Amino acid sequence: MVEILNTPKIIIAGPCAAESKEQLFATAKEIYDLRFTIDLQFFRVGVWKPRTNPNDFQGVGTEALGWLQEIKKQFGFKICVEVASAEHVKLCVKNDIDAVWIGARTTVNPFLVQAIADALKNSPLTVFVKNPVNPDINLWIGAIKRFQNVGVEKIMAIHRGFSVANEHVYRNAPCWEIPMALRLKMPDIPILCDISHLAGSVPLQQTIAQTALNYGFDGLMIEVHHAPDQALSDSKQQLLPSQFAHLLQNISLPTSNNDADNALFIQRNLIKNIDIQISKLLSKRMETVDKIAAIKTQHNLPPLQPEQWKKVVEVYENNALDDENYRQFLEEFLLLLHKCSLKRQG
Ligand code: PEP
Ligand code: MN
Repeated sequence: MVEILNTPKIIIAGPCAAESKEQLFATAKEIYDLRFTIDLQFFRVGVWKPRTNPNDFQGVGTEALGWLQEIKKQFGFKICVEVASAEHVKLCVKNDIDAVWIGARTTVNPFLVQAIADALKNSPLTVFVKNPVNPDINLWIGAIKRFQNVGVEKIMAIHRGFSVANEHVYRNAPCWEIPMALRLKMPDIPILCDISHLAGSVPLQQTIAQTALNYGFDGLMIEVHHAPDQALSDSKQQLLPSQFAHLLQNISLPTSNNDADNALFIQRNLIKNIDIQISKLLSKRMETVDKIAAIKTQHNLPPLQPEQWKKVVEVYENNALDDENYRQFLEEFLLLLHKCSLKRQG
């Protein structure tokens, strides 16, 4: 008897797009065959696809909802579909769909999100809210709030990476600090990582999945297709069912461990004391900047005195860790510090 893998709590998998009844059934069957090792929560598929190029394949549309009802009956999967309008929601409800996700190109638009939320008022469906394409945490939070406001109870966030300049490795930049900030601001909202759209290719997905779980994400969304090289969309990033199983087999879940907890407790207390001092010192520094500003105003001196700022930078650099990462941080920190000082000096 094969044991269910010790996998993340929530796994959503399925093809990028609904292409044909045969494709959906072939993929669903191969994922179903993994049921003794993988506990799938939702079978995903894009019925209506938001494509950049209007000549690209757009998903087969509403017709696929009937096929999904059959898949649900035959394999017992809960079904999750992308919606981008109130009309999509209506069709999903009519066709017994269990969950919907709001795509990255929809989350950016508060009018669209509100219309979808209104259509889902008090709905028992699970709603997954993907991050907006641009790295704006407030748009993401705002979209989640619109569903909370209409009484949707099961809401989760999906991190699928962000479109930023100068990202050359991944299809979308991970910017892990943004989902981590979301975790702090909305601790009750589970967060999943869509490793497929984040990575954009197969080889990077294992590391992305592991990183997400190390950060404490609650689950993964993964595009799986029975024949990725024939897929009509996102063929480079969809996994074969066997690759999907392999990826999950090779994941290690962070475990709770008493020795680690004790060691962390000591270090975290040290950090807390350091942070208290940094915070007090920074406040003291700001007060001193205000005194300098008053002197400059009194004597009609300009706020910006480049020679003086150079000396400040030297003080930080002379006391810096010899570490490239830290130097980069220092550079950004000093820019921010200088900006703030100049602002206080009018
Ligand atoms: C998708 O999951 O198929 C999709 C289109 O995702 P995103 O909105 O993240 O681009
Ligand atoms: Mn896709």
